[in-house]
Amino acid sequence: MIDKFLFPTENVCSFCKDYDENLIYGLCEECRDRIEELHAKVNLKTDFVDDLYVSIFYNRFAKDFIHQYKFNNKSYLFKTFSSYMNKTLCKLEIFDYDLIIPVPIHRRKEAIRGYNQSYLLANEIAKYNKKPIYKDVLIKRKWTKEQNKLNLYERRLNLSSSFIVKREKIILDKKILLIDDIVTTGMTLELCSKELKENGADKIIGLCLSTPIR
Ligand SMILES: [Zn+2]
Repeated sequence: MIDKFLFPTENVCSFCKDYDENLIYGLCEECRDRIEELHAKVNLKTDFVDDLYVSIFYNRFAKDFIHQYKFNNKSYLFKTFSSYMNKTLCKLEIFDYDLIIPVPIHRRKEAIRGYNQSYLLANEIAKYNKKPIYKDVLIKRKWTKEQNKLNLYERRLNLSSSFIVKREKIILDKKILLIDDIVTTGMTLELCSKELKENGADKIIGLCLSTPIR
């Protein structure tokens, strides 16, 4: 039931561009079949993220799809992706949070890319669930390399003290839904959550579009 009403659209698949009269989430049946839906809790050992949920498995299809979203300027794919994330929230009945914060990217990177991919997802989730979203509370201040090109040690070094909180009154004692696109080691989410909690946040629920972890 959830499937239908989330994403009414015209009849061209957002991914393969085939004509299809019964698109769901903007995708034709063939593309939908290649998405492995998870809508599950991820058991990642973290000190600061209270709960972490993920929507789809990072298989080869999703990888290609997400890569196009992030690096090939196909920002419109946020509609499809956020639909899967909304489905996770509906299915698992995750409604108990006060506000939404996207994992930030550096403003220079955003200027180059033209958008923050996690913000587009978060914004759509906020609209759908009628929750406030804050883009300028958690800030990425350090320019860092793409995490996927680094090993674990380099990732930690790369990200250490790269996030800061501004306007901390907004998050004081709040339950926050923290949105990101891909979770692999969980380090980004962990560092964001640490910063948020050290600035007064009460609880962090992570929601990521995709993960290679099963
Ligand atoms: Zn398709």
